[in-house]
Amino acid sequence: MRRTGRWLFIAALSAPLGASLHAAPNDVIGSYPVDEVAANVFVMTGPLGEPSVANQGFMNNPAWIVTRDGVVVIDPGSSVQAGRRVLKEIGKITGKPVTHVFTTHIHGDHWLGNHAILEVWPQAKLVAHPDMIAKAHAGEAQSWVALMSRLTEGYTDGTRAHIPTVAAADGQLFKVGERRFKVHSVNDAHSKTDLMIEVDGGILFTGDIVLNGRVARMDDGLFQGTIRAIDRAVSVPAKTIVPGHGKTGGRGLLTAQREYLQTLFDAVRIEYDTGKADFEMKAAIVEKLAKFRHWHGFDAAVGRHISLAILEIERQ
Ligand SMILES: [Zn+2]
Repeated sequence: MRRTGRWLFIAALSAPLGASLHAAPNDVIGSYPVDEVAANVFVMTGPLGEPSVANQGFMNNPAWIVTRDGVVVIDPGSSVQAGRRVLKEIGKITGKPVTHVFTTHIHGDHWLGNHAILEVWPQAKLVAHPDMIAKAHAGEAQSWVALMSRLTEGYTDGTRAHIPTVAAADGQLFKVGERRFKVHSVNDAHSKTDLMIEVDGGILFTGDIVLNGRVARMDDGLFQGTIRAIDRAVSVPAKTIVPGHGKTGGRGLLTAQREYLQTLFDAVRIEYDTGKADFEMKAAIVEKLAKFRHWHGFDAAVGRHISLAILEIERQ
């Protein structure tokens, strides 16, 4: 499996001290900043990077919104251990029950923490894109459980995949307490199973359609579809953008991500039309992307992105 091989390779490179950092099962995931990014909207910002022994597989941005009637969680992390850590942080703020959990997409670093939520709040509704639910049942859930275990050398063991049961439609509105959660559903973006969640028109959770300071894995997605999804995000009047990875920011996160994808895709098309192969065009593409070279994972991912963009052009 190409994805698995690449991640193992990156993990091996990025975690040379892994053995000494390896924690025993059930140890608590390390401490990470929890910020109130808007009134009663909290984000626990994970570290940048791939799942590894060093980060115990935790590298996404779990979030929760405290409403009058309960707590809504978005992407509670990569494992039962990460989910328990999230619940501990929620417990410092409120004793209200978790009533809903939104999963932004199929990638397991975002949703395997559902297990921990249901341990404590078995009535919580787990909401996702219908294709996320279908793919998870078709085998991807188990693949992600196994991948997380391998990348963390067993730290996440004990995690069971609790697949969402509520399929959200595009534009669907969930009312919880005094707050409104609007679903923006797309089929052809980062993972082809992506939801973005708009909260009260002011905050947008983008999942991995938008990241901050890190390049995205595009192996399961499409460049042009992701660009269209970002255009949709731009049309939402949100001031606060919570990306799938990296720090919460303003609308500039949308334009930066869009520019990276559009610049790369347009540059690849120009080079492709001159008859060049991926390795022949890489230097010219990297030059056009110079302003993004400081993004985490750029050097490792850009060659892969070029190859994927070529495949997308050839399918047109
Ligand atoms: Zn993802």
